[in-house]
This record gives sequence, structure tokens and C-alpha cells, in this order.
Amino acid sequence: MKLVYCGNCDAVSALATMEREACHTCGKTAVRIDVPRPWQYWVAIAVILTGSAILFLSYIPEIQFRFLVLLPFLGLGLFLSTWAMRVSKDRALEAGRARGKGKEA
Ligand SMILES: [Zn+2]
Repeated sequence: MKLVYCGNCDAVSALATMEREACHTCGKTAVRIDVPRPWQYWVAIAVILTGSAILFLSYIPEIQFRFLVLLPFLGLGLFLSTWAMRVSKDRALEAGRARGKGKEA
């Protein structure tokens, strides 16, 4: 995953790592912005790993019950990673604006 900033739309797009660095909105070439991962990202990973570990270590035979155990971890992980994404995009937007001042792509 990578974030790119488009000076044309003043917007940040999230792209897959292999994708061409272009704006999602207008399709113009966008500048790649590297922002450090926020703490929410690492907590999301820790939460999901913890949930998986608990599931692995507790021998619950019923598959439905296993799912119920994992569900809150997945929910929290999803919530945190969405939050992390929002924080990253905000930072990338700020960095993109600072970088793109007075320049035209
Ligand atoms: Zn654009």
C-alpha cells in the first residue's frame, strides 16, 4: 500500500504498491508520499494476532463458537486499521501540500 498526493485535486489516493502513481480522481500523475505508520496500525496487527493466538491456543471444537471468539478481535482490528488509514491520509495530505507549494506537475 502506498499513498500519493495529487496537486491538481489537492487530494490523497491510496494505491496498491504495484499500481502506477496516479490520482484516483483525475488520473494525473501523483507524487508518492511516505508517511510513518501510525500507532493504530501496529495495534490493529497486535489485536488480530492476539485474537488468532487465543483461537489457536483454546481448543474450541465448534466452528461457530470459534468465529464468535474471533469476531470482536477482527472488528477492533478493522476499526483500528481504518483509523490508521485516515491518520495516514491526513498526514500525507499535509506533506503533499507542503511539498507541492508553488510547483506545477
Ligand atoms: Zn487528481
